[in-house]
This record gives sequence, C-alpha cells and structure tokens, in this order.
Amino acid sequence: MKVSQLFTKTSKTSPADEVSRNAQLLIRAGYVYKVMAGVYAYTPLGLRVLENIKQIVREEMNSIGGQEIIMTSLQRKETWEGTGRWDDNKVDVWFKSKLKDDTEVGLAWSHEEAIMEMMQQFIKSYKDLPTSVYQFQTKLRNELRAKSGIMRGREFVMKDMYSLHATKEDMDAYYNKVIQVYQRCYERFGIGDSTFVTFASGGAFTKFSHEFQTICDAGEDILYVNEEQTVAVNEEVLDDATTELGIEKSTLAPTKSAEVGNIFKFGTEKSEQMGITFTDSDGANKPIYLASYGIGITRVMGVIVEKFADEKGIVWPESIAPAKIYLVSIGKQGSEAADALYAELTSKGVDVLYDDRDARPGEKFADGELMGIPYTLTVSDRLIEAGAFELKHRSNNTSAEILTRDELFASIVTS
Ligand code: ATP
Ligand code: MG
Repeated sequence: MKVSQLFTKTSKTSPADEVSRNAQLLIRAGYVYKVMAGVYAYTPLGLRVLENIKQIVREEMNSIGGQEIIMTSLQRKETWEGTGRWDDNKVDVWFKSKLKDDTEVGLAWSHEEAIMEMMQQFIKSYKDLPTSVYQFQTKLRNELRAKSGIMRGREFVMKDMYSLHATKEDMDAYYNKVIQVYQRCYERFGIGDSTFVTFASGGAFTKFSHEFQTICDAGEDILYVNEEQTVAVNEEVLDDATTELGIEKSTLAPTKSAEVGNIFKFGTEKSEQMGITFTDSDGANKPIYLASYGIGITRVMGVIVEKFADEKGIVWPESIAPAKIYLVSIGKQGSEAADALYAELTSKGVDVLYDDRDARPGEKFADGELMGIPYTLTVSDRLIEAGAFELKHRSNNTSAEILTRDELFASIVTS
C-alpha cells in the first residue's frame, strides 16, 4: 500500500465533536470515518485492522470446529415473539421497521433466536449433535449512550458463536474449550496480560456467566481483581461471587475495565421456550443444550487503541497492525531505492505501508507514528551512501538501529 494512493489523509487536530480518545486518534490517523454518534465507517487502513482481528478469531473458532456462517440483519418479528424479546420493555435497544405491506421487521441487535430458528431446521437427531456455528456480523443497537467511540457503537461488529449439544456434560466440556481459545485470541491481540475471565451475572438462565474484561481506563465497567491477578469479579455480582468462591472482599481491588467478550450457557431453557428438540438415542424427544459466545470485534480494536496509544498516536501490536513496516524515503536516490525495497519486501510477503509522498521527512515520520505502524524503515541518500538502512520500533523507546541490508532482511522478513 502506498500512502500517496490512500484516499484518507491524516489530520493534526482532533474532531471537535468527538470526546473519546480511541475515536479521536482513529479519525485523525485515517482509520475510521464518523457518520454520527456511535456510527463509524472503516477506511482501507481501519478495515485491515478489523480483518486482522477477525482472522485471529476465525482461526481460533475453526480450531474447535466452529462453522462460519452469516445471518441477516433483517429479522422477523415472530422469531423474537416466542421468547418475549420483541417487547421493547424487555429489549430496549431495538431498531424496528416495516416492509411495504406493513409487516413488522427488526434490525438485528442479536442473532440468538434467529440462529436457533435456522438450526432447528437441520438438527433432528442426536447424530446431528454437537455442532457449533459462528459469524462476524453487524449488530444494530439503539444504545442510549454513545460516547466511547468505537467501544460502544450503535452499529458494531461482533463475533457470535452458538454451540448445540445433546447433554449438559458435552456443553460444559465445549464451554471450557471456548474459554481456552478465547484466552488465546486475547493473547494474540496483544492484550492477554490485562484480560481476565470474570464471574459476571448470568441473567435469567444461569447463575454466573463469564465475561472477558480488559483493564482499561476508558472502559465502562468496574472489575475487582486480587493482588496476584488470579481472580477477577464484576462489581455487579461482587457479594455473590465472593461468597461462592470463598474469598475475602477486602483482597480485591477495583479497577476500570472494558468487556471484550461474554459467554454463557442457556442450558435447555431457550430450546424449551422455542420448542427446539432432537430425538435422542433412546427415541425420546429432548430439548437441545445451548451455549452462546460473543467477542466485540470493533470494541477490541478501540480498547487496543486506548491501552497502547502514546503522545505520538496509536501503537498497534504487530498481530493486528494494518502493515508491519512504514517505509519512508528521503531524497532522490532514497526514493529510487525505496521503490525497489517496497517491491522486494512486498514480494516476500511483508506488509509495507510506503510513504512515497513528496513531503518533508518530519511529516512522514509523524504520520507513521500517528498511524501506529510497528516499524519505521528509512531509506535516504545519506544512508544509501553508507550502505545502510534505519529501522525504528514504534512501541519501545530505544533509538533507531542502523542495519546493513542483510541485517535488515534477517530482522524483518523472518520475524
Ligand atoms: P455491554 O454490557 O457492554 O453493553 P452486552 O452485555 O450488551 O455489552 P453482549 O450482547 O454480551 O454485550 O455482546 C457481546 C460483546 O459485544 C460484548 O462483550 C462487547 O464486547 C461487545 N459489545 C456489546 N455492545 C457493544 C456496542 N454497543 N458496541 C461495541 N461492542 C459492543
Ligand atoms: Mg455482556
């Protein structure tokens, strides 16, 4: 990708109507475009980050047999009536509309009922179980507050997965596997150290659910964590959970956090409500065991911006950055050498964002830093004379390294 060809431009000033730091930086650096409060479009750079996050999640869900699908955003009223969740008093984030013939439809805020309705058409016998399906989908929610940038959108991307089982034991075992692959996802995003599986309230179906909470000042939740950071409990269930776990409340300290994932077991309650059954090996008709697993894809992107950004701008972990290298050319010879280097690195599979603009070096460096690309690689007339390249890491404060061509390739093509 060449910076001269990107239609987005960086900006030195923050948008006046944006209070959240993640959105300010993402807009300034050209990752998102704000349509209205809580509604953001993703530009080529932003889409790359989103796709990188999704790809990590996709690999992990596939590793436990998840089958990827995509449901629809338009939903039938009847899908939700059976469980009482068409009612605006029960679900207060619905966007609703009507077809030309006055048929009421809803814009998907969740796909739990919709997916179960579809699965019911296919799952007939114990031989069809277990199975699990997932999707990356836009959810539309008429959220009251939308002041956290992409961390709380009225339109946002979620990965939601549902697993269906014949027995409770099978559901429990799968649920535990999901906890493990979720932890791997957060590790791969670069926030493994600060993300906890927490006890949260389970709603109507189960005593506790599990949330994945990342310590983050911009988060809207309060997490109670013990000193060894081995136990984390949500504020809303603190008393219950400490009793259940047999721990002293005084050993837990509050810290701000953001919910980046949420998993819970419906057991058989939703299938009972929706009349979803299978024929077991003994011939009896039984309700299916169901569990549901969400990750806030766009929220994760916002949390990462909030956690790692510094005074110069965004700092992406390499695993999700839109490019690994920000290539800066200085001078005439420098730009010829950079053209060749760009072609060569790209052909070797290294993602390079090449700042080929006719601009001041300082401006190029500042933009690479604002965009948060993990390495800045400089090719200048002066360096070429010395047969050298300058490589600087974005996140640590060590000074730039001067490398020979062999050293450069050894360090960036393999790692
Ligand atoms: P919250 O408590 O933050 O409102 P929720 O409990 O309604 O979230 P779920 O329905 O469990 O969220 O959705 C699964 C995940 O989707 C959440 O863990 C969160 O990471 C993400 N998410 C939920 N609402 C939003 C939103 N408005 N914008 C961005 N991400 C969201
Ligand atoms: Mg939740």
